[in-house]
Amino acid sequence: MKIGIIGLGLIGSSLGLALRQRGHQVLGVSRTEPICHLAQARRIVDEASPHFSLLATTEIVFICTPMSAIAPTLESLIPHLIPETIITDVGSVKTAVVGACSPLWHNFVGGHPLAGTERSGIDAAQPDLFKNAPYVLTPTDTTPTESVKILQELITSLGAVVQVCTPTEHDQAVAWISHLPVMISAGLVKTVSEEQDVTLLELAQTLASSGFRDTSRVGGGNPELGVMMAKYNQKALARSLHHYRRNLDQIIDLIEQEQWQSLQQIFEATRRDRSKFLR
Ligand code: NAP
Repeated sequence: MKIGIIGLGLIGSSLGLALRQRGHQVLGVSRTEPICHLAQARRIVDEASPHFSLLATTEIVFICTPMSAIAPTLESLIPHLIPETIITDVGSVKTAVVGACSPLWHNFVGGHPLAGTERSGIDAAQPDLFKNAPYVLTPTDTTPTESVKILQELITSLGAVVQVCTPTEHDQAVAWISHLPVMISAGLVKTVSEEQDVTLLELAQTLASSGFRDTSRVGGGNPELGVMMAKYNQKALARSLHHYRRNLDQIIDLIEQEQWQSLQQIFEATRRDRSKFLR
């Protein structure tokens, strides 16, 4: 197939490598000439250009820009395309993107690969990034079924596991398993860092080991990504955080009231339930 990719960062370049490995012709659009040259030199794409006209006859276009640029990119791209082109994006939140993009292009299918690393940009590209990773497609009532099917087959061929759901379902699910953990983890680091006794704070920093490393990892990452989650997934994330606060209040009450048996029951349930979320 002839496939276009806009935004040659971590996700866009990884897609380019994976698609070329499977024999597709990949055309890349980047904002800058140096990235275009690099992408061609590294065989991430067959051809690259800063101009959307390169994508004129592509069958599928993946928009792989930051969330804020997805709908504006689509608007600028539309005059250059044939009506049959399927456009999809890779943004981490779907309701806002699908709401903005579906009215602009009838053949738009929202998408989100649940794959990534802490790195960004073209240097972070990995051809196997999508292998065994979930990849969500979020069609609406008006999305052509055939377009969803074509995308589903293409993405499955990259080794990813496709899930189809509504944008709202997607956003609530990722609020639970991705965005809530980031906020809790950030809250943990913030709380511990606010210890006023300098000697005690330094002791805690010296003693911190694998447990703190694991629980603080997602909260100590890219600040822009954290804000993006809160900004674009505000409703679902707030709902998750309110629910979490109720559970935290309950745990505080149990500890203060020395209800060890009830606390034990909570830990027994969490030990049992955790494995259901891990593949
Ligand atoms: P990234 O490595 O920073 O790549 C984004 C690319 O978009 C940049 O390299 C740049 O490519 C282009 N770009 C940056 N600012 C732009 C702007 N204002 N207008 C147009 N293009 C712009 O980020 P990424 O991790 O690949 O994320 C891209 C998308 O994937 C985001 O929507 C994110 O929500 C989603 N996503 C990320 C992850 C993750 O773990 N990182 C996972 C799943 C989905 P050029 O220099 O080539 O123009």
